[in-house]
Amino acid sequence: MKLIYDLSYEDINQWVLDQGLKSYRSKQIYQWLYQKRALDFEQMSDLSKDLVALLKEQFIIDPLKLVKRQQSKDGTVKCLYKLLDGSLVETVLMVYDYGNSVCVTSQVGCNMGCTFCASGLLKKDRDLSSGELVAQVMAIQHELDATQERVSHVVVMGSGEPFDNYDNVMRFMKTINHDNGLAIGARHITVSTCGIVPKINQFSKEHTQFNLAVSLHAPNDELRSQLMPINKAYPLKDLMASLKAYSEENNRRLTFEYILLKDVNDQDIHVQQLSKLIKGMNAYVNLIPYNVVDEHGYKQVGFVQAMKFYDKLMKSGVKCTLRQEHGSDIDAACGQLRAKTEGKL
Ligand code: SAH
Repeated sequence: MKLIYDLSYEDINQWVLDQGLKSYRSKQIYQWLYQKRALDFEQMSDLSKDLVALLKEQFIIDPLKLVKRQQSKDGTVKCLYKLLDGSLVETVLMVYDYGNSVCVTSQVGCNMGCTFCASGLLKKDRDLSSGELVAQVMAIQHELDATQERVSHVVVMGSGEPFDNYDNVMRFMKTINHDNGLAIGARHITVSTCGIVPKINQFSKEHTQFNLAVSLHAPNDELRSQLMPINKAYPLKDLMASLKAYSEENNRRLTFEYILLKDVNDQDIHVQQLSKLIKGMNAYVNLIPYNVVDEHGYKQVGFVQAMKFYDKLMKSGVKCTLRQEHGSDIDAACGQLRAKTEGKL
């Protein structure tokens, strides 16, 4: 049995043709799945009985079982889902004034080993398929349907390194962006990477409208290698060259994520180095308050100090924002996502 969400629009079309059916059937199936949000093939009332039977025989629609749901004071919802093989993934809904943003998990565990992040405490077990990513968005959309709202934004910023699961993540983004499906605008979909340069180069060449965010977190190689082992493979010189090429080739604004870690990367020297690194690029820095992960020992920078860092960076000619955290009271903020039961139930 296959997951039907794993199929792109083109794949469904091919499947329909392979069954000797007319091509318009694929549009109908896609609309049933993503616009009418059917969870059972039996609901697809304008398909023939035979086609419904065939679909039921070959495909599953929803692979997620809700295990736990938590809601934060600020409206953030975190859902823990069990996949068909028992793996656990967390998905977060953040409610903003501009819309509803879903943060999806791209891998079970993560191998990147960033020293501040909770997700990497569990080594990668496996990649998620594109359909398992789609299913996370659909599950939240099903919740929102109760109040006639829609998922307007998606960020691939949950557990896992999306560019270590490149093909599935790209297929996922194209599926939720498709006009006959959820039609979430490409400019409302963001993928965040810790900096896997060959994949950034590949992404660059695809010329999509999806947003790219890069977790920087340190403005020099020594510190960045301490915080993020990936920097040893792809140091800043290579990373920045690849990002400049991306920016020029795609004419898109980049986001750099920078967690403020007390006494680690929050000093004046870091403002200066950061400014030297980024000034002149079509980019802005998103300063992120650190969410404490007990095992790691880093400390959060206080609001006043964070504002000072922000001011100095702005004055040095780098555009930046200071992110407001969502859902920290339910461990749903960045870096706090983790299946607390060792990844399996
Ligand atoms: N692997 C990808 C996407 C997942 S992490 C990446 O590295 O970009 C999403 C963002 O949350 C990254 O910027 C990551 O560095 C940040 N993050 C991780 N742990 C955090 C923590 N404890 N507090 C705040 N942000 C954190």
